[in-house]
Amino acid sequence: MSENIERVKCLIIGSGPAGYTAAIYAARANLAPVLYEGLQPGGQLTTTTEVENFPGYPEGVTGPAMMEDLKKQAIRYGTDVRFGYATKVDFSGNTHKVLVDDEKWLETDAVIIATGATAKYLGIPSEEKYKGFGVSACATCDGFFFRGKVVAVVGGGDTACEEATYLSGLCKKVYLIVRKNFLRASKAMQQRTMNTANIEVLFEHATKEITGNDLGVTGVTLTNSKGEEVKLNIDGFFVAIGHQPNTDIFKPVVKMDEIGYILTEPGSSRTNVPGVFACGDVQDRIYRQAITAAGSGCMAALDSEKYLAELHH
Ligand code: NDP
Repeated sequence: MSENIERVKCLIIGSGPAGYTAAIYAARANLAPVLYEGLQPGGQLTTTTEVENFPGYPEGVTGPAMMEDLKKQAIRYGTDVRFGYATKVDFSGNTHKVLVDDEKWLETDAVIIATGATAKYLGIPSEEKYKGFGVSACATCDGFFFRGKVVAVVGGGDTACEEATYLSGLCKKVYLIVRKNFLRASKAMQQRTMNTANIEVLFEHATKEITGNDLGVTGVTLTNSKGEEVKLNIDGFFVAIGHQPNTDIFKPVVKMDEIGYILTEPGSSRTNVPGVFACGDVQDRIYRQAITAAGSGCMAALDSEKYLAELHH
């Protein structure tokens, strides 16, 4: 371990709104932060289209453009932004160690975890079989391939409605498959979905199986509330049923809830491990918004700064 170890003052893992906001604050506080971007540089917002509710953008902004701006701002104040994925941590000693890409160890007194969350899948075998061949969890990434075609989106939250409305602009027809008899998306999003002519919402339908051939998806079999099978001809199947926090490498040292969201002390970003802070979706199962992630990123940087000042006093 000792041959290839780099000492840094403050290490940030993750590059969504939480990670970059933490970086901006940490850099401006002279903590010389090093930020590892992870597998999806820019985080989940890079897979979204228009962000209309982030204060300061009266005309809206695209997710990727906003993340690019945040990155530039973090770099401008001296953040060292690097490609790399944290694969292991050792929080057992006085200083914390993080392994990047299974080859390089970093040592630091302050770690800010901003690893976010990842899209969940239904877990049926046919979904796995057609992943990348018609099954996707990202309409903005893959919708382009289904222009003029018929697709289905599963889920009833904001993500599902957003994906469905996005796809309705590209596709001939979009089925929205909802397992309950209501949408849990925000009222505005529900209205937009229900008022889009080429979206058909199928309430109380569960996905049984995705069907296809060598070229990809051709249909989906659903079960309705009466237990009857409903078959739809579709070319693409989009899963939009929520997210799982990216916290595997921090188990079992960092305390989490039963789903895997990191637990922080109320009103702070402090975890149960001194010097380890968490911000953004990785510790937020309620709000999960870009603005709340950014706010908690600010908190994590301020908490780190205070911790480091006390440690070195
Ligand atoms: P949610 O957890 O809000 O919704 C998940 C949806 O998927 C629910 O309708 C749920 O059904 C359904 N679901 C879960 N598992 C299954 C399954 N196995 N089969 C079928 N359906 C299933 O997740 P979202 O990703 O939609 O949203 C997460 C958070 O992010 C929310 O707070 C949301 O408001 C926010 N968000 C905000 C956006 C914006 O402001 N622009 C955009 C996207 C998200 P059920 O209701 O039965 O549990």
